[in-house]
Amino acid sequence: MKYQVLLFYKYITIHDPKAEMLRQKKLCQKHNLKCRIIVAKEGINGTLEGLTGNTQAYIDEMSADERFTDIHWKKSVGTGNAFPRINVKVRPEIVTLGLGKEDIDPNATSGKYITAEELHELYESGKEFYVIDMRNDYEQAIGHFEDAILMPVSNFREIPDKLNEIEHLKDKLVVTTCTGGIRCEKASGFLKEHGFTNVYQLHGGMQTYIEKYPNKHFKGKLYVFDGRTVWGINTESPEHEVIGRCRDCNKKCDNYVDCSYIHCRNPKRHFILCKECIGENGKAYCSEECKQSK
Ligand SMILES: [Zn+2]
Ligand SMILES: [Zn+2]
Repeated sequence: MKYQVLLFYKYITIHDPKAEMLRQKKLCQKHNLKCRIIVAKEGINGTLEGLTGNTQAYIDEMSADERFTDIHWKKSVGTGNAFPRINVKVRPEIVTLGLGKEDIDPNATSGKYITAEELHELYESGKEFYVIDMRNDYEQAIGHFEDAILMPVSNFREIPDKLNEIEHLKDKLVVTTCTGGIRCEKASGFLKEHGFTNVYQLHGGMQTYIEKYPNKHFKGKLYVFDGRTVWGINTESPEHEVIGRCRDCNKKCDNYVDCSYIHCRNPKRHFILCKECIGENGKAYCSEECKQSK
């Protein structure tokens, strides 16, 4: 039994998000897929898992719809447990920068695409350029592009407040990067609207780069938002570097845990902890406060 995980998005005006949501539910039922899909007026964003024949059937059906013919599908090996159920929701946006009505419309403004191959060549060329990592800090902790500027945010919505961190790069060649590309469509548009003159976004995101160049200029592993949490290719190879560090003993490690206090609301409740540092009772706490309130 071979499972496959699909990751995709498409910024395109969806006139009736609710109807699309219902259609997506039916599609997933029909092909026996489990998923998390968000539909909004600005587009669709999804990740789903099923047997390989079924994920392909889903791609074929989506591709027959003219709105979705040019979706860039990211495929990876699944476990069969990536998602608990079919989960399709209508939201105001598929990804939000939190700018309210002024939020960036990627259908109108975004950076130019740079392919994984072109980015690879840039690295090899020695030219001056800056890779900006638009993901959350806990994602960056286990892997990121070489020499990347890691935006210090625990949520994408904080990006506008951290613009000062990269203000000095306004006239430089910058490449925005994220897992599959969806956040960069907005982030690159946001940079352009704030006077950045030479903005590129990595087409297909980090996952596409890693598929083509495992263990090259992307160091460590990729954080993914499904039951696998951590993903990589050829991670057993001696070329592979472990970037993550255990919070408590600082040993190299990419094992994520969640704070064991069930009411924990700390944005840092998801962190890296090695098996030895997890208490004998299997519990892990983000803070002394949570430990006391268990
Ligand atoms: Zn440890
Ligand atoms: Zn906690």
